[in-house]
This record gives sequence, C-alpha cells and structure tokens, in this order.
Amino acid sequence: MKEPEKPNRRQGSGIIFVISAPSGAGKTTLLREVVKQLPDLRFSISHTTRPPRANEERGKDYYFISPSEFEKMRSRGEFLEWTEVSGNRYGTAKTEISRRIAAGKDLLLDVDSRGAGKVLRELETVVLIYILPPSLRVLTRRLTGRGLDSPEVVRLRLANARKEMGESRWYHYLIVYDRVDEAVERLKAVIMAERCRRDKPAILRKMRILREESDGKNHRGRLLKKG
Ligand code: 5GP
Repeated sequence: MKEPEKPNRRQGSGIIFVISAPSGAGKTTLLREVVKQLPDLRFSISHTTRPPRANEERGKDYYFISPSEFEKMRSRGEFLEWTEVSGNRYGTAKTEISRRIAAGKDLLLDVDSRGAGKVLRELETVVLIYILPPSLRVLTRRLTGRGLDSPEVVRLRLANARKEMGESRWYHYLIVYDRVDEAVERLKAVIMAERCRRDKPAILRKMRILREESDGKNHRGRLLKKG
C-alpha cells in the first residue's frame, strides 16, 4: 500500500508551532487564550485511545478512538508521530497537518517532547516552544491544587515533569508561565515574529515590483527630459 504523503511545509504557507509543557503547567488555558486572540491559528486535533473527560468534545479536543482503530492507523503509517502516555496512545495524523497547512492556517501541535523531536525530524521547518512553570514548587502547588490526582499520581507527574523539562533545552523558545496574561503576550509575540519571518520573501517580491515600477518611471522621466 502507498505510504501516506508526509506533510510538507512548502505545500502551503502555514507555520507549525509545536508546544510542549510538563503536566500541570497550565498549557491548555494558555493555548486556548492565544487561539482566541490570534486569527488564522488552529489546534491540530490528535487521535487518542484515552476516554473523553467530562468537559471534552469529540473532534474538537481529540478524535477519541479505540486501541484497535489506533493500531490500524499506526500500521498503515497514517501518523506523523505517536506516543504512549500513562497507558494511553496519542498520535498526530499526517492528514490533519497537510490539510490545514495547505489551507494556509498556522497550526498548534500540543505534543510531548518525544513527539516534538519526531515532528522536527520529519518536517524540519517547525517552531518549537516549551512552556515552563516558574518553579517546581509552583508546579507542585498547581498539580495538588487541581484536586484531580491522588498524592501518588502527583508524585509520578512531578517525576515525569523533571525529566520532561530537561528536554526543553533544545526547543527554540522557552516561555515561563507565571501570570497568564504575560505568558499569553509572550506566546503571541513569538507567533507574530515567526509570521513576519515567513512573510519576508513575499514582502521582498512585492518591494522589488515597487522598485521596478519606480525605476521605470524614473527611466521614462529621464527619457522625457532628454527628448
Ligand atoms: P492529556 O491526556 O492530558 O490530554 O495529554 C497527555 C499528554 O499527551 C500531554 O503531554 C500532551 O501534550 C500529549 N499529547 C497529546 N496529543 C499528543 C499527540 O498527538 N502526540 C504526542 N506525542 N503527544 C500528545
């Protein structure tokens, strides 16, 4: 069977922003706020075998699928990357990326550091952003404060967080998430700066046309004077 085509950033003009954070850093709130505030920015929706949580919608937060459906997709090579976290599988479908990038939409990929490494190897031109809590003490407080997990699970999440945060050093940008408004502004600034970088060739092309137009006019002007 033919391998599904790898998404390629050059197919469209969308930028892929890969965002990782340790569990409990508050990434979801931050990303939702930035998507609300910036135009042409969408979440990439992952497939997962995890059951939906009370506040989650199918096809909006995740595509919730069974382990056997996940396995079928995996064996057909339909995932750009996939991983297993706490016994559940998560994967980014290649079609999810190519469809949106070709439509010129910038994409936010919320994946762990393993997924980020894989995306970087596969796509080359991605922007990697890591969201860090201001300290481990604050992270512990946030994890316990959520009241979602037992002390044992909190300990596990903290141990994972330490390991995961060590991976942040090879990301392009680090954003310390202390106050939400500040972190939102920083993330928006990174996205806007990368958009300016992406738009540079198009702007230069336009400027060349403008220059040629004005050169043409000057040339005509000189001809007229001479005549
Ligand atoms: P949660 O179950 O809390 O929604 O997500 C658990 C972890 O899985 C988070 O660290 C999240 O970034 C990661 N994750 C979600 N979707 C994907 C995916 O498609 N690929 C990878 N590699 N990680 C994912």
